[in-house]
Amino acid sequence: MDEIEGTGQAVKRERKVKILATLGPSSNTEEKIEALFLAGADVFRINMSHSTHEMLADYHAMIRAVEKRHGRPIGILVDLQGPKLRIGEIADPPAVLEPGDTFVLDDDPAPGNVERAHLPHPEIFDAIRAGDQVLLNDGLIRLVVTDVEPGRIITRIIHGGPLSSRKGVSLPDTVVPLSAMTDKDKADLEYACKLGVDWIALSFVQRPDDVAAVRKMVRGRAGVLAKIEKPAALRCLKEIIDLSDALMVARGDLGVELPLEAVPGWQKRITRAARRAGKPVVVATQMLESMIENPSPTRAEVSDVATAVFEGADAIMLSAESAAGKWPVEAVTTMDRIAQNVESDPNYRDIIRSQLDTKPEPTTADAISAAARSIAETLKVACIVSYTSSGSTGLRISRERPEVAIIALSPRMETVRRLSLAWGLHCVVTEDPQDLDDMADKACRIAYREDMAMIGERVLITCGVPLGTPGATNMLRIADVTAQVARSMKGDAASQGAAADA
Ligand code: PGA
Ligand code: MN
Repeated sequence: MDEIEGTGQAVKRERKVKILATLGPSSNTEEKIEALFLAGADVFRINMSHSTHEMLADYHAMIRAVEKRHGRPIGILVDLQGPKLRIGEIADPPAVLEPGDTFVLDDDPAPGNVERAHLPHPEIFDAIRAGDQVLLNDGLIRLVVTDVEPGRIITRIIHGGPLSSRKGVSLPDTVVPLSAMTDKDKADLEYACKLGVDWIALSFVQRPDDVAAVRKMVRGRAGVLAKIEKPAALRCLKEIIDLSDALMVARGDLGVELPLEAVPGWQKRITRAARRAGKPVVVATQMLESMIENPSPTRAEVSDVATAVFEGADAIMLSAESAAGKWPVEAVTTMDRIAQNVESDPNYRDIIRSQLDTKPEPTTADAISAAARSIAETLKVACIVSYTSSGSTGLRISRERPEVAIIALSPRMETVRRLSLAWGLHCVVTEDPQDLDDMADKACRIAYREDMAMIGERVLITCGVPLGTPGATNMLRIADVTAQVARSMKGDAASQGAAADA
């Protein structure tokens, strides 16, 4: 049985928004990962731009060990590098490019200098046009194409700066006919799926087809998250959202390819579009950047995190702060504090509700979810308990952004792990109930055990009859947490122990 059950000391978050923490040299031991989890990290991200298969396997094993020890599901997101474009080698020392000079990108693998560099991506030579911009080194160096010849792109330097080997290349004006998946990405994806990770994130998505291709390779073994970081993706956002299980506002690369001042507006548009579709959305990059060096953030960073929480994002992400910074645990604690403050702000409910009309779609699951929110808030029940085998009802209830806590119950470990990315869901793996009485008792017992309801309080349950049929949510029930059900839970916990799967 894939059960992670009752240590009796459930780790319970005091916030709805989830925290996604990237792992790296600052967080590469089980002790450090456990400290991040206890500080508030709900999902861990492993960036394949910086990790080998061996490192991925180690991270996976350490996270699953922490998960088992604490009896709480933890999500693992593997972020594929994607077709990141890079220049070739530059001779030492780094070339310093001067504004106004000419600079050539060509197909000659010889080391580059102040006049030229190798561009090892033949597809670009056919796709690029005079007038297109070329950004090097995260946008620090800006070139504009003046002429294209076979195997040579001639540019004028607008902003100069130092250029060293293998720096990133961004082409905000050019749609490059590259597949979203390199051979490395395919190998990484297959390895990650075999290990049993929960989310695969796809970088530099340009078209809906990119997502469709990855879905085919993943074959349902993980959720597929599309990172929105290319202007081309913004032009077909709706289609990309439809094909994805989750989204990321990848503001780092988005801010290189778009004018920086366009990013906040797009952050809101992407967040709202994802919320409307009921797909988890992550706001990422440089959220607490100064905490790479310092134990406390800047006021501007705190506002940036708060904005994402007010907007109703499902998750907020730490990158280098937790992967390579000096204060990884403090960065998680800081995010947790900001989130709790925003969520208890008197304006929070109004903002999160008014920003979006989350009208239910005309489906049973949505009708039940909307009714669950309304009843839960009218009766002031302690929490909503949702039986969700595949996770889809859990996501529809999360989409309603109800005021009360939500417990998502599933017999499938992969479902509860995946749902740990979604706003407001406290996920618990448990066997399907035997009958309707057991369904109500189990919901009450778990709500009590997880410290989400007290004796004398009521819970609101959503489930599907016949019991245990995926996709069949069709019923709402209100149940009382009585001393008797609470007592029977203690018996359960003692007999089950804290077993978890590998
Ligand atoms: P990255 O993606 O950290 O993999 O570059 C996030 C971003 O671009 O914001
Ligand atoms: Mn990126």
